[in-house]
Amino acid sequence: MRLETLGEFQFIDFIRQQAPTDDHVCRGIGDDAAVLALPQGHQLVTSTDMLVESVHFQHDWISKEDLGHKAVAVNLSDLAAMGGQPRFLYLGLALPVSTEVAEIKAFLKGCIDEASKYHVNLVGGDTCKSPGPWFISVTLEGTVPKDQDIGRNGARPGDLIMVSGTLGDSALALNLLTQDRAPGQELLAKHNRPTPRIELGRRLGAKRLVSAMIDISDGLAGDLDHILQASGVDGIIQEAQLPLSKTFKAHVKKNPAIKEMALSGGEDYELLFTTAPSNEASVMALAKDLGLQVTTIGSVKKGNGVLEVQDRKGSSRPVAIKSYDHFCRS
Ligand code: ADP
Ligand code: MG
Repeated sequence: MRLETLGEFQFIDFIRQQAPTDDHVCRGIGDDAAVLALPQGHQLVTSTDMLVESVHFQHDWISKEDLGHKAVAVNLSDLAAMGGQPRFLYLGLALPVSTEVAEIKAFLKGCIDEASKYHVNLVGGDTCKSPGPWFISVTLEGTVPKDQDIGRNGARPGDLIMVSGTLGDSALALNLLTQDRAPGQELLAKHNRPTPRIELGRRLGAKRLVSAMIDISDGLAGDLDHILQASGVDGIIQEAQLPLSKTFKAHVKKNPAIKEMALSGGEDYELLFTTAPSNEASVMALAKDLGLQVTTIGSVKKGNGVLEVQDRKGSSRPVAIKSYDHFCRS
């Protein structure tokens, strides 16, 4: 069956039936607006992201269920970077009327499964027809106790630069897909099913262990640049310290140029943060407790936003920031 046969209101009703809610949802899907209860002493933290077919994804390279997971996960990752507890999800969808209902059901399953993992309730959205591509707009609201939110602007000279997980796997997967080569399960999962580091972000904020934090969507260099600019400091990264997966290293052996993707590839959805050296042991203990890899990759210096990379021999070079710009041709 296609969406044009199901109709908008049956479609919304189907979404409502699939979306569990808890006590924080006073009014969810089905009214003019959602009404939600917030815990006392908490602030609202909100993030929104669009995914557009042919710009952010291609149907050939990702299943509908994975697309649902990813659409929610990238917003969860933004909330993680603020130290927030995610709570409420809104889903804006513009879809061609010819879309198979089975496809959209698989997409919704991905969205709701990903949200449910973190006890997030789907409480609203908007639905309309698209002349062609899929447009997905996800908004996520969460809460963060007063004074525990973490911005990009708190990095101080002397701080260490740390990062969760491994870098470059997602960019490598995309690179292989664009060459019609199979990236293999592990790399593909990093690209299509990223894991937002919610618990790490929340606990780093709650314990005030970080001075600045961001999630890596544009690539390590580009996102670190955001922290350096916002904080008015310089950064230096030790190339040899960059955390790379075994699979990534195996690809680098065959083609050394790939190494660059650990610095400038996008969509890692790992947390990148700065902290005083006196906090390093506590951060490592927290990471161990969560079963997560966290690596110290560099340090912050007095300056005005310059990022350098130091190679194994100790010589440093400035990094060209190549963050993806939607409105620039190059
Ligand atoms: P209105 O015309 O007042 O904007 P809608 O018909 O767009 O109302 O929406 C009715 C209800 O269904 C609202 O609660 C809205 O949040 C919800 N809703 C609509 N589309 C979606 C969607 N894609 N996902 C979740 N909830 C949705
Ligand atoms: Mg509406």
